[in-house]
Amino acid sequence: MSVTIATRESPEMVRLITKLYARFVLAGFALVPAYLIAYLFFFQDPTLRLENHLFHEIAIAAATLEGLFVTYVTWQCYRSSGEPLLRWLTLGFLGFVLIYALHGAFTGMAHHNIWLFLLYGPASRLVMSTLLLVGLLSYNQPPDTVERRTDWRGWLTWMALFLFVDLVVAGIAYSPIAGTLAVRLSMEGGAMILSALNVLILLLRRIRTPLMVMFGVSVTAFALSSLAFILGRPWNHMWWLAHAIFAGGFFLLSYGVVQAFHTTRSFATIYSREELMARLAEAMGRTESALQELQRTNDRLEHLAATDPLTGAANRRQFIERVEAEIERARRGGAPFSLLALDLDHFKAINDAYGHQAGDTVLREFVQICGDAIRPYDGVARVGGEEFMVLLPQTGLDAALTTGERIRSMIAGSIFGTGSGRRGEVTVSVGGSQFGRDGDTIDTILRAADERLYCAKHLGRNRVVVG
Ligand code: GH3
Ligand code: MG
Ligand code: MG
Repeated sequence: MSVTIATRESPEMVRLITKLYARFVLAGFALVPAYLIAYLFFFQDPTLRLENHLFHEIAIAAATLEGLFVTYVTWQCYRSSGEPLLRWLTLGFLGFVLIYALHGAFTGMAHHNIWLFLLYGPASRLVMSTLLLVGLLSYNQPPDTVERRTDWRGWLTWMALFLFVDLVVAGIAYSPIAGTLAVRLSMEGGAMILSALNVLILLLRRIRTPLMVMFGVSVTAFALSSLAFILGRPWNHMWWLAHAIFAGGFFLLSYGVVQAFHTTRSFATIYSREELMARLAEAMGRTESALQELQRTNDRLEHLAATDPLTGAANRRQFIERVEAEIERARRGGAPFSLLALDLDHFKAINDAYGHQAGDTVLREFVQICGDAIRPYDGVARVGGEEFMVLLPQTGLDAALTTGERIRSMIAGSIFGTGSGRRGEVTVSVGGSQFGRDGDTIDTILRAADERLYCAKHLGRNRVVVG
């Protein structure tokens, strides 16, 4: 389970060149409007005009509707992420819509008062580029509080301000200064400079997240559209091209907003593909080591669940499982197996004489000696206080008797940690049974071994009975 990150494996040189190339084509793409402007400027007759009011009205109506929709989506993003940039973007779009709509609405007034028709265009772009610039300056600032996000008074104040701008523009349009170049140029030129400033700041701050790159290409288009408006005259091709360039920038920026809406709802936390790949690889690495750790924990738990904590021998549950597996094997035609039931003799007396703790030590040592007396695949299990069972796979009763006898004699010949230093102090009685011969269910063979164990007890203890 690993993620290959292609760029990490390519030669450093190729990486560098492809990176530079990506920047170069991005800049080339952002400047496409500039080529078009240059083309019209140098090769087209500036007197060619297309004065189509209906088309203009439809185009502006569509832009207004789209602008409202984009404002709404941006506002939704802002409400969930609280990103200040998104607040300014929402305001930028809203301000643009509320001012630009009048540019369309007054199309029919073009012959009555050309400035009433024209000035709403540059005014809307000036307002939007100002708000986008403030937004960019707030990039990566901490999110707004929830109260601030849902405060309606702020939004209403801004709306009132935009409507006030509408009135001011109307006032200018009917004033004697309306026709002066200074008015139009200060608005359109102001919009151009502010948009260009946006691009400059993005470049200087080296902001390269994917959505901010889109933002940069959009504001480049906005700056160039203002340039085209300055170079154009109402209804000529440069003027129409300026509209188209602005629309292109707006489309791209709104595409970015929709991307944010469908992912993190924030402009700052959309990652580049390279970053996503790195994060994915890291997350998968973490998952893998977590899984390994889980596996180790599972193994430990499984071992704990199957083991007697005092002696380390298997517990009753584990023993029964192993016997059942042996029964299955024997039923499929495997060799017979045997069981030994063991019970320490007069263990109570050991406890009474040396204490419970010494008794525990004896139990632990008993299991160790048993382990030494049997084959690695035979298993000792503690099934009661001082009662044990040994499973002897592929062993008939005769061999079981030998094993039982070996255990018994090793126990009787050992010195246990009771402190007395005496042999024969601890002894064990053993009963054995064989699957098939003494029964063919787990209950019957266990019972047979138990009965023989008690037989051994009655016969005087410290002995093995198998038949
Ligand atoms: P017998 O030869 O008939 O088996 O005599 P016994 O004393 O071994 O049998 P009994 O069943 O009367 O007593 C078993 C003793 O084992 C009683 C109990 O205190 C002791 N015992 C059971 N579990 C433990 C344990 O975990 N630690 C210690 N130290 N003693 C235990
Ligand atoms: Mg007992
Ligand atoms: Mg006992």
